Amino acid sequence: MTLPNYEIFALRYATMPKRTRRENFITHDPHDELMPMDYFVWLIRGEGRTIMVDTGFNAEQAKQRGRTLTRCPVGSLALLGIAPEDVQDVVITHLHYDHAGNIDLLPNAKFHIQDGEMDYACGRHMCQGLFRHAYNIEDVVALVRRVYADRVVFHDGRETLCPGIELMKIGGHTKGLQSLRVHTARGWVVLASDASHYYENMEKPSPFPIVFHLGEMLEGYGILRDAADSPQHIVPGPDPMVRERYPFHGDPANDIVALHLPPKG
Ligand SMILES: [Zn+2]
Repeated sequence: MTLPNYEIFALRYATMPKRTRRENFITHDPHDELMPMDYFVWLIRGEGRTIMVDTGFNAEQAKQRGRTLTRCPVGSLALLGIAPEDVQDVVITHLHYDHAGNIDLLPNAKFHIQDGEMDYACGRHMCQGLFRHAYNIEDVVALVRRVYADRVVFHDGRETLCPGIELMKIGGHTKGLQSLRVHTARGWVVLASDASHYYENMEKPSPFPIVFHLGEMLEGYGILRDAADSPQHIVPGPDPMVRERYPFHGDPANDIVALHLPPKG
């Protein structure tokens, strides 16, 4: 069977320019230099499907957490000719505040999440401030409301969402984090999300310091590598390098890069 080829876009919606290297690795990094973070949502398109991956945060969360929001992540889909009503499916990689806000702006979408992530966000581990810190309770409550409205689809482990798009439970960073494997004209591309925040976390390897299970996080790098056609097919989460390595789609001012095209250089 020939697999369909999808387009994948990364849309940057926020940034945190003042972050330093020492904040981004679990092992001590002696360098004081800046290592900024860029926040993305992703859009997969093809075969009549419009699938959003993560939903970003809103202005209130940006202000609370000192991030620079450059635009509404859902509103930015308009630059691809997509209205919020057109989004049929949303894959929530995990429920951290920078991945799972704004779901009230997507009136027709079904939300796909791993069992383990919902358990984690609603269960005993949230008694720990250390784990709870990266969650926004309003996002979690909003998703629970969608469960009661038949708009959440639960997954457990590795599952095919549709031909050419697979969900891969990784865990590690959170209890139920999932990455995606998407078939494109250049082969299988892996959207790691926070299974590896930066290229460097995976390459060293030295995970980002927000961790639920360190063993799963380290094993996760192997899962990403096995699922991708090459290391150049793995796209980390909030790494500004993604914007430098991939070609812009349309006007660079739109801040959208095309991940289904080969990276530069
Ligand atoms: Zn996260």
